[in-house]
Amino acid sequence: MRPPGADAVLVRHGDVGVKSSAVQAGMERRLRDNLAAMLEDRGVDGDVEREWGRVIVRTDDPDAATDAATDTFGVVSASPAISVPADLQAIRDALADAAREHYDEGAFAVDARRAGEHDFDSHDVNREGGDAVWGAVEPVFEPAVDLDDPDITFSVEVRREEAFVFLEKRDGPGGLPLGSQDPLVALVSGGIDSPVAAWEAMKRGSPIVPLYLDLGPYGGHDHRARAEETARRLSDFAPNFDLGLRVAPAGDAVQRLAEETGRTRMLSYRRFMYRVAEHVAEDAGAVGVVTGEALGQKSSQTAANFAVVDRATDLPIHRPLFTHDKQEIIARARAIETYRDSTIEVGCNKLAPSQPLTAAPLESVLADEPDDIYDLARDVADGVERAEVTAP
Ligand code: ATP
Ligand code: MG
Repeated sequence: MRPPGADAVLVRHGDVGVKSSAVQAGMERRLRDNLAAMLEDRGVDGDVEREWGRVIVRTDDPDAATDAATDTFGVVSASPAISVPADLQAIRDALADAAREHYDEGAFAVDARRAGEHDFDSHDVNREGGDAVWGAVEPVFEPAVDLDDPDITFSVEVRREEAFVFLEKRDGPGGLPLGSQDPLVALVSGGIDSPVAAWEAMKRGSPIVPLYLDLGPYGGHDHRARAEETARRLSDFAPNFDLGLRVAPAGDAVQRLAEETGRTRMLSYRRFMYRVAEHVAEDAGAVGVVTGEALGQKSSQTAANFAVVDRATDLPIHRPLFTHDKQEIIARARAIETYRDSTIEVGCNKLAPSQPLTAAPLESVLADEPDDIYDLARDVADGVERAEVTAP
């Protein structure tokens, strides 16, 4: 729902606003740039301006620009709005127009906010605005005012010389602008979990370097296709960042792990995988590794086993889904459109031993795995290639 004549989008951020003023200014500039890139990527005309505490898009396609804003990390909500001069008569007129177009029985409220110097305050806007809405609809309807539980809210935000009138707030992802944190290598398998984990890290500001381990006979061609599709989908949220998928040729190495290990195999596999990721991180300037692991999801994902496998690398292993139930992860995957109904069997199912250990001591893991496991990882990392990110 947007007011007639809408020519702007009011964009709100959240956590950016609790920073010191210098940090906040930097983050707002980044948000502005990311949103401008998002608009360009989608072919939506618009100029993005940064105002203290807000980002504003001037556009003749406020619906599409609002959708772009609500896919931009750091955006808490966005509203298609009409901008008018910050005087009571102009605000009254815009509210009356909006009411004639959108009011349809029931209770309404006017909700005004104000920042800057004006010869009126927000109470005046509420009073005058309520009067204007009432006057506009009263010839046709029997309006009522309900400030606590209105059927429709006419919102006004007065900022210096301008006032914005809008009718809805569409939710964005929240978080921080992408690029406001350092990059992380994201291990993406093409399953359900890892795209969500990567997205969550991006949401908090870290650009990701997506890395897929091609497991050769233990994987499958469609796994790689899913990983490529994941990288492509994630890049929709980050058009001004390079999210090209890195593919590591891990088939031979994994074959050796399969031949030489037993009940501790999945732990050695993870230790190997993190180590490959560590090398890729060094090359890419990334400072940590993101995985889609969740506490207790699989035998290799117990708290005890995390304690063991994490010792393969000095880099922190970040697990954004640590406390998430599968159903929550699936809901998120659907929302960000990385979920496919035909979700294929992916990951390490072919590799897993019949009786994996849930609490394998580090000594047994080390005793069983190939002595040159870190060299294997180094070689595999040297063979990493980039897959082209192609259009859907
Ligand atoms: P997902 O967790 O993505 O749904 P999955 O459940 O098959 O896939 P798990 O066995 O749960 O994978 O592996 C846990 C995590 O390890 C994944 O979320 C992913 O981060 C990483 N991972 C597993 N296999 C691969 C792979 N072939 N390439 C890159 N990362 C992988
Ligand atoms: Mg998983």
